[in-house]
Amino acid sequence: MNIKKAYFLTSCVKSSQFPAFSYPEFAFFGRSNVGKSSLLNMILGQKGLVKTGARPGVTQTINFFIVNDNRSFADLPGIGYAKLPLSVKKKFMPMIKEYITSRDNLKLAFVLIDARRTPGDYEHDLLNLLIENKIPIAITLTKCDKLSKNELAKSIADISNTLEIDKKSIFITSTKTNTGKKELLSLIDEFSR
Ligand code: GDP
Repeated sequence: MNIKKAYFLTSCVKSSQFPAFSYPEFAFFGRSNVGKSSLLNMILGQKGLVKTGARPGVTQTINFFIVNDNRSFADLPGIGYAKLPLSVKKKFMPMIKEYITSRDNLKLAFVLIDARRTPGDYEHDLLNLLIENKIPIAITLTKCDKLSKNELAKSIADISNTLEIDKKSIFITSTKTNTGKKELLSLIDEFSR
């Protein structure tokens, strides 16, 4: 697909506020600083639409975007920033759970993982929640430009083993080199049907 038009719609903290349309929806999950805003801007083809390098933990809402007037993207709050107070961190998982369990039009979850990092509790909990709710998952490795080819192959193998996820469900991206944009857009097409 080509993205011709994309705009921010609304920010929500609970399901009663979620927009009530039925466009196929694509959700983006990941820890703070994983590169989620940069990736969304790359996919949407608009540099400033999602604020990058925002103070970690500032985005504590679920942000909805309308794409081509026929699909929606949901940007879920980044979790796992060590400096964030535990009370704030604890708020996120129930919000994420409420989103996953209530969003009938959710077609696919992009779970972003920094290609240089080992997945931890956050990723395990999130994947379990998605699997329980039968939401298809695309593991999206970010900042792949920071690794050599060999390092990247090792990282994919490690992440596939740790998360028990097929390598075919792991996608390589870099917003520095525009890597992965075409593949993610094709996935969105495939799962919009
Ligand atoms: P967010 O907190 O997950 O939304 O992350 P941001 O998109 O704000 O990115 C966090 C930091 O990682 C910023 O300094 C970005 O410039 C950097 N970054 C994001 N994507 C990439 C990438 O693909 N390659 C490299 N080298 N840096 C990236």
